[in-house]
Amino acid sequence: EVIHIRSTGEIQKILKACQIVKETLDMIQGLIVPGITPLELDTEAEKFIRSKGAEPGFKGLYGYPATLCISVDDEVVQGIPNDRRLQDGEIVSIDVGSLIDGYYGDHAKTFSVGKIDSKKKMLIAVTQDCLMTAIDQAIPGNRIGDISHAVQKKAESNGYGVVTELVGHGIGTKLHEDPQIPNFGKPGTGPKIEAGMCFAIEPMINMGTPGVYTKKDGWTVCTKDGMPSAHFEHTITITEDGAKILTI
Ligand code: MG
Repeated sequence: EVIHIRSTGEIQKILKACQIVKETLDMIQGLIVPGITPLELDTEAEKFIRSKGAEPGFKGLYGYPATLCISVDDEVVQGIPNDRRLQDGEIVSIDVGSLIDGYYGDHAKTFSVGKIDSKKKMLIAVTQDCLMTAIDQAIPGNRIGDISHAVQKKAESNGYGVVTELVGHGIGTKLHEDPQIPNFGKPGTGPKIEAGMCFAIEPMINMGTPGVYTKKDGWTVCTKDGMPSAHFEHTITITEDGAKILTI
């Protein structure tokens, strides 16, 4: 396992990629209304990313066909944009990557479509909280297991299921680098965290049970119990003073 320690110059490049995905989600958020289709959102996102001189980070990677991953309600992650119109009351998780000057940024948020019920609101709030609590643990001297445990504890104490099949990751010149950052684990275990490391931390939290399956398209991950799921992701870098969020 090789966990890269990035130079200040490299981190500046990762920051540039991260600012583009941050701005992409800000732009996309304004377009999410009942009736719009994931394909329309994907087209706008690709245009936006290319207008910034970057490339979509996911498109073509491992054969993925689109700029965004758009996952609705019981879809957890890696939903391929389609032409089914989003409906009032749904929640939609949007994950986006960009590549510029050889470095990647990775970012995801779950949005509401129109008016959503209080249960979905709570799921979104707690999943975001899982991410922020996890980031608090991303400090020099801690271990990856401290990040993982923070997510699991926050999610399970709210009665939610933690998806274990997919994990966060190191990020840099590749979208997915070492280390793997599971959303469950024991404190004090795993690789030691050092200044200069860059991570994408991404809790995927189910309202119901943790089980998931992959659809026949080979990408879309869904909850087995059909209940909704939420996903938040930030790319961060570790400094001597703690984590710095680059996608903010
Ligand atoms: Mg990621």
